[in-house]
Amino acid sequence: MYKWLKPTLCLKGFEQLTPTLLHGLGIKALLLDVDNTLSDGHGLPIAPEVQKHLELLKEESFLLCILSNNGEERVGTFAAPLGLEYIAHAKKPSSEGVLRALSLLQVEASETLMVGDQLFTDIWGGNRAGIQTALVQPRGGAEPWYIQLKRALERPFIKRILADTSVLRGE
Ligand SMILES: [Mg+2]
Repeated sequence: MYKWLKPTLCLKGFEQLTPTLLHGLGIKALLLDVDNTLSDGHGLPIAPEVQKHLELLKEESFLLCILSNNGEERVGTFAAPLGLEYIAHAKKPSSEGVLRALSLLQVEASETLMVGDQLFTDIWGGNRAGIQTALVQPRGGAEPWYIQLKRALERPFIKRILADTSVLRGE
């Protein structure tokens, strides 16, 4: 079980994914979760500091694609002003959406990184598809009960990840 939930990287947030760190891992493309990864919660827009970092990664020629389990309306509305490709209804932790993103961006699994805040969707889905994965601390505050439940189930695994010296950290 643990091997499916173990991320390549464990970070405070998206902004810790510096070009230097990404180049070091051979990453050319990033698949991005939306809620609590780029936004502070369900239905909210991108956080300003996250957007700034996104623009920087674009300038550095990284390929970016939103990959969310949310519906077309939420994901399309989120991605459009950012000028990003997107996949809605990604069905994480199925590898289906990730594999679609790889063919959309025309990149190899080994040079792609899934970035997300949830172990049982983002990290598991990325690992199943054979790409690299980055777990970030969830942005935002109060969450609905079903997310809180998932967080509680994640907790023992997060503890293990934090104690695992083979999981890379940001600066
Ligand atoms: Mg999320």
